[in-house]
Amino acid sequence: MATDGTTDQTRYAALKRTVLTLGPIRRGSLVRRFMPCGKPGCCCQASPPELHGPYYQWTRKIRGKTVTVRLTREEARLFEEWISNGRQLDRILAQMEAVSLRITERLMKQQRKA
Ligand SMILES: [Zn+2]
Repeated sequence: MATDGTTDQTRYAALKRTVLTLGPIRRGSLVRRFMPCGKPGCCCQASPPELHGPYYQWTRKIRGKTVTVRLTREEARLFEEWISNGRQLDRILAQMEAVSLRITERLMKQQRKA
């Protein structure tokens, strides 16, 4: 895809504007799970078992340690949005890098011609 310098500048400006509209971000991931309770005779011990849940957890590695936080369904909904914002930020930054590479290559060539 051949793009001229103006197109890249416009694209870069648009990406920067997109960053400004982004909501708060959270790293890590959301886990939705069903679990047995361990009480004898509970439906979760039957065959086939009827597990309890769903339970929501947010997990994240912090300084090499996996941190897990239990969440309510409502909190999980928010975390989902924040995590998605974080991924969107990563995508935008990757695009900014790609566009910047073209912009800076062009600037470098101009510099060498001068
Ligand atoms: Zn149970």
